[in-house]
Amino acid sequence: MPSASPAKHSANKDTAKKKAKENTKMKCPFCGHLETQVVETRMSEDGDSIRRRRQCGACEKRYTTYERPDVSFPNIVKKDGRRIEYKRDKLLESIGLALPKRPVSTEQVDNAIERIEEKLLSLGQREVPSTRIGELVMRELKKLDKVAYIRFASVYRSFEDIDDFKSLVDEVRK
Ligand SMILES: [Zn+2]
Repeated sequence: MPSASPAKHSANKDTAKKKAKENTKMKCPFCGHLETQVVETRMSEDGDSIRRRRQCGACEKRYTTYERPDVSFPNIVKKDGRRIEYKRDKLLESIGLALPKRPVSTEQVDNAIERIEEKLLSLGQREVPSTRIGELVMRELKKLDKVAYIRFASVYRSFEDIDDFKSLVDEVRK
């Protein structure tokens, strides 16, 4: 029977081991399998995040995870004054509404969201108005796809009449 101290020692070692292994343990978003393998690890250009390509041990699908310092996003202040938490899914959803049948890849959208998030974090504020995010989205969409940009902007700016819309189209045509 082992004495108390070696048992304690090995428990510590187990914890350390488990920690090192957690990097590769992540639930597969496709099938829920718990073992995924990291197939590629890359540092972002500016060195502030690590990107890992992972492959599920069961269904073999690949996906990407990002590791970055845990700094929190500012809360979003809606037009009616309500404060809501920033959620990437919500942002993705609202951008997605402008994208049906447009030649914009998932990767382009992900990159756009990355840039928007970087901007939000770099503001260093605890709250930002939702209009600020709307502008950031429009800036990205304008670069990606003019039709998506017009779709988003027309909803976002809730145009009152056709002249507003026309001036936006003219602006994009320039
Ligand atoms: Zn899987």
